[in-house]
Amino acid sequence: MNYEDYFAKRLADLRDDGNYRVFADLERQVGSFPKAKNYRDGRVEEVTIWCNNDYLGMGMHTDVLASMKDALDTSGAGAGGTRNISGTNHYHVLLEQELASWHNKGGALLFTSGYVANMTTLMTLGAKIPGMVLFSDAKNHNSMIEGVRHSRAPKHVWKHNDYDDLHKQLSEYDRSVPKMVVFESVYSMDGDISPIEKIVEVAEHHNAMTFLDEVHAVGMYGADGSGVAERDGVRDRIDIIQGTLGKAVGVIGGYIAGSANLVDFVRSFGNGFIFTTSLPPAVAAGALTSVRHLRAHPELRTLHQERAATLKRRFTQLGIPIINSASHIVPVLVGDATLCKRASDELLTTHGIYVQPINYPTVAKGTERLRITPTPLHTDADMDHLCHAFADVWSRLGIQKAIAAE
Ligand SMILES: *Cc1c(COP(=O)(O)O)cnc(C)c1O
Repeated sequence: MNYEDYFAKRLADLRDDGNYRVFADLERQVGSFPKAKNYRDGRVEEVTIWCNNDYLGMGMHTDVLASMKDALDTSGAGAGGTRNISGTNHYHVLLEQELASWHNKGGALLFTSGYVANMTTLMTLGAKIPGMVLFSDAKNHNSMIEGVRHSRAPKHVWKHNDYDDLHKQLSEYDRSVPKMVVFESVYSMDGDISPIEKIVEVAEHHNAMTFLDEVHAVGMYGADGSGVAERDGVRDRIDIIQGTLGKAVGVIGGYIAGSANLVDFVRSFGNGFIFTTSLPPAVAAGALTSVRHLRAHPELRTLHQERAATLKRRFTQLGIPIINSASHIVPVLVGDATLCKRASDELLTTHGIYVQPINYPTVAKGTERLRITPTPLHTDADMDHLCHAFADVWSRLGIQKAIAAE
């Protein structure tokens, strides 16, 4: 086989389909969020980022930066080992305590990322609990799909958010068979929120454990900011809550929170936790400061929701076809990969607005979209600019305004 030819051919196919990924080369600017420098075609331009997962701007927060600099100066760059072999720094311990308290659980465990937290936890529990059967929502994130797959436990995929289908599939097993229901709270591509309480009721009825990915909710929902399970008053009925420190918390890292024994089990048997260098102390310090700040500032969450609601209203008035979302995420449906990429290019080159096109395989073909994430730091003036730009690009490219949302 000619390997180089094979790679080139497959990449050419991606380009033909409009699915070839081009990264925006950005330089974020402390103090100017959500604006950033964009390096493109040998030039540097200022752009406004509208697709940031730093949902509340915490990645630029003065207190977070100060605690990271402080930890860097006192504890150095890297952790110096795996958690077991000299790599547990006091900041990791403090952060795990804070996360456990945040989710009202007996313990919490840090991972390199949210991806690794999902993959490792699901792999470990699926593989190590004898006879375990996994029940995974059809729209679960790739990190959960991979965790389920690599556990090699028997798996069942239930229809997205459909707790009747879940009930039907669980009913095929005796109550005594170990089971786990795996799902998310906020699904970030459509922005919909799962009926957590209903799903928990079904799981309890069948004596199944529950694993909830709150990656797109931690910091943003609930009075204390720990997620939708808290907001809905059901977090104490969830066995494992998984979150990230890379989105609303603004740094990097992932975690699970659960009972002391469950967390100790994953700590003791999870290969993706055991066999890797722990997070830099400064990262843990920054995340700790950020989580404490988020807990103490519910007004950020109120403002965040207001910004999203305002943008949805304004887009609806303009006839821009948004997918009706129950969360802070505003997905705009384009429905064609090439057109979606062109719209994104036009927004960037003509208007200095950066919204990444979301194409296959992240979403199904024919549902390509621009996914907008307004933050509390996007001003009314930023929103005027965005609406003007969308109206212009939509009419110039002749993108249909009345594509049915879902
Ligand atoms: C981003 C994401 C993850 C992975 O989290 P990282 O910390 O970015 O690795 C897991 N689950 C969902 C639903 C996500 O969107």
